Amino acid sequence: MKYVIVTGGVMSGLGKGITAASMGRILKNKGYDVTAIKIDPYINIDAGTMSPFQHGEVFVLKDGGEADLDLGNYERFLDIELTREHNITTGKVYQAVINKERRGDYLGKTVQIIPHVTNEIKERLRNVAKNSGAQICLVEVGGTVGDIESMPFLEAVRQLHNEEDMEDVVFIHVTLVPMDPQGEQKTKPTQHSVKELRQLGLHPDMIVTRCKMPVLPGTKEKISLFCDVPAKAVISAHDAEDIYMVPQRLEIEGAAEYLLSKLNLKSRDDLKEWDRMVEKMRSISGSVDVAVVGKYTDLEDSYLSIRESLKHAGIEVGCKINAYWLDAEDYEKEPESINQLSKYDGILVPGGFGVRGTEGKIFAVKYARENNKPYLGLCLGMQTAVIEFARNVLGYENANSSELASTEHPVIDLLPEQEGVVDMGATMRLGDYFAELTPGSLANRLYGSDAIIERHRHRYEVNPKYIDEMEKAGLKFTGRNKNRMEIAEIPGHKFFFASQFHPEFKSRPNRPSPPFLGFVRAMFEKTD
Ligand code: GLN
Repeated sequence: MKYVIVTGGVMSGLGKGITAASMGRILKNKGYDVTAIKIDPYINIDAGTMSPFQHGEVFVLKDGGEADLDLGNYERFLDIELTREHNITTGKVYQAVINKERRGDYLGKTVQIIPHVTNEIKERLRNVAKNSGAQICLVEVGGTVGDIESMPFLEAVRQLHNEEDMEDVVFIHVTLVPMDPQGEQKTKPTQHSVKELRQLGLHPDMIVTRCKMPVLPGTKEKISLFCDVPAKAVISAHDAEDIYMVPQRLEIEGAAEYLLSKLNLKSRDDLKEWDRMVEKMRSISGSVDVAVVGKYTDLEDSYLSIRESLKHAGIEVGCKINAYWLDAEDYEKEPESINQLSKYDGILVPGGFGVRGTEGKIFAVKYARENNKPYLGLCLGMQTAVIEFARNVLGYENANSSELASTEHPVIDLLPEQEGVVDMGATMRLGDYFAELTPGSLANRLYGSDAIIERHRHRYEVNPKYIDEMEKAGLKFTGRNKNRMEIAEIPGHKFFFASQFHPEFKSRPNRPSPPFLGFVRAMFEKTD
């Protein structure tokens, strides 16, 4: 097993995750199976309880793991599916160590960070790498070198390097090369962060420098001299037009060749699939404007997978996506402003929790349904579509979800088997579940299949008591998992598709998610 360990210096937010994922992609292009592990040094067990405001989107894995959004980047760049073990947090590690201590596994010894915590970390890294069946395992150590929280992890990877064959573990350090007001590229921050790394016993094999402009040969020489790496191991990862163009940039800089030589591997292949996707992206001509009516609109990262999925569909259809992140609460404050939705080609209501903004989302669905605007509803976006239909078509004025209000018409509700469960965390339906699709339905046509598997993250369901009535009135449930409704659509509408699952987690740059593809096609048709 080969390990590529990625650390970060200078400051957070440098795009270390994208750099690591891109490194993985160029190694994959050379014919190797690559997997990835993200280390998050926070004490939370996982990202499930973290607010999208603070942390960006919670990415849901196939086994129901709720992870950092970087795992989504790894899945998209490497075209793989990961599980919860691929996200290691301080919380998980300490929980395991403390459980072992309570069981008496440490035979009365004093339990310490070195060796007990570091052993736990190494064991996890090795097991996940081995079980993945890949040849190369990327390990991204979250945080910045020097943070207290990441110390045990850096010490663990130092030990790993010592214990494995020299050529099996390489280190990449991602840093920043800022420019001074005269436009000169400055290397001091990089020098300092490498110094910090070396104090911890880690020596980078490659330094990836983030910069606005290409890092100049002279700058590379200087970094090479002060940081003790060859100049060709200093890679310029200057800003790219799009994140999907980063792998090509690293490739041109010679990163793949250098990494392979360090790992004592030979190039086995030269896959062009990614290049073809980027080519398609460069030749895009038209554009569509989509209104995303949500709650966390200030922070685009809260809907990262949705943004990427729209982009994937746009690449396939040949149009650029202009996404406008609109705050649903504005429609509650000023109901007439809903008519401003007329200027968009389609409306998307994403997932969400809690009551804030839901009435505004319901107005947005109503607008889409009544004005034949393409509509894509995801999770809460399906629930609001059902509520809207019950209120305005069936005439149940106070229809609602029992998550949001107590009502005589809980069209969205807990199923009888879920009631009375007190621990809310345990009742969430997470990860992969199948759905059977109605032959001839929009869902069936989009997926080209009778059964699908998609990822979930919800607690409430369409109330089975109202299904017949809604179907008779025109809202069809064309994807089902026994008594759970997975897809709702309105035949005859230009495009009205809503799912209880989150298709955005399985979309790939060169394999867009079918509902997103259908939605973007329907929006793009207006200009044809
Ligand atoms: N809050 C809703 C539920 O729990 C929807 C969840 C979501 O949109 N992810 O069912």
